[in-house]
Amino acid sequence: SRTYLVTGSASGIGKATVAHLREQGHTVIGADLKDADISADLATPDGRIQLVDRAHELTDGRLDAVIACAGLAHFVPRTIQVNYFGVVATLEGLRPLLAAGTDPRAVLLSSVASIHPADQTIVDAALAGDEAAAVAAAQAAVDRGEGYAIYGASKQAIARWLRRTAISDDWAAAGIPLNAVAPGTTVTPMTEPMLADAETRAAIDAGIPMPLHGHARPEQVAPLLTWLTSPENTHVTGQVVFLDGGADAVLRGDNI
Ligand code: NAD
Repeated sequence: SRTYLVTGSASGIGKATVAHLREQGHTVIGADLKDADISADLATPDGRIQLVDRAHELTDGRLDAVIACAGLAHFVPRTIQVNYFGVVATLEGLRPLLAAGTDPRAVLLSSVASIHPADQTIVDAALAGDEAAAVAAAQAAVDRGEGYAIYGASKQAIARWLRRTAISDDWAAAGIPLNAVAPGTTVTPMTEPMLADAETRAAIDAGIPMPLHGHARPEQVAPLLTWLTSPENTHVTGQVVFLDGGADAVLRGDNI
């Protein structure tokens, strides 16, 4: 049995992943805004510190795996703070606990939205680690009526961070696989309100075509997150694995 920390554990993909891991007999510490073992707001510096401090207290400083699901899709600057800076702080902050664990692994959530054209001002500021500049660029997108672009930019930035970070000394040389899963449209409390509106649903389906099996359920994402963070995964690292019913193959085609 392994000890996992899952962020975004109170809803959707995170909640389904916690259930899947517990069914397999693993110990899981959930973190979320509320209804979790650790209550922390990962959009804030204080919340990020709380997450790591509480994780130390609850685990004696050892974790075997981290699954970073916490995310936001609102058309506001907070989305870049949670989806990029919150995820980076989660993984960097918990890395020392992973280094003390057994067969340590980590995975984060990107999205098919990461391959849509993105606002590079937001992406570049995020990758530079400049949260104030990223928030300002996101606010500028909101002011232009393009707040929808923040989400895709956050998911592209975190995928690029992952590619760089997975091969660094802190991760690869320390023996810790680090990957992303990029779901297509998955039916969760994040997307249910949008999918309930016929016009919005049609726009989503046009942007993320899923010829195989259509929209996913969170229970269908959990097993991949579990495998990527299992001891069986010895050599998959730095990958963005698309669990998307073929959306990436449709959208990127030959551009691999
Ligand atoms: P969800 O809204 O059901 O769950 C997300 C959870 O993250 C919620 O419990 C929420 O409280 C938590 N969270 C949000 N902001 C937080 C903060 N500041 N601090 C701590 N926790 C916070 O969404 P979901 O669909 O399960 O999404 C999980 C992940 O998968 C997200 O990163 C999302 O962007 C990604 N994703 C989802 C879809 C989809 O179609 N649902 C597609 C691609 C990627």
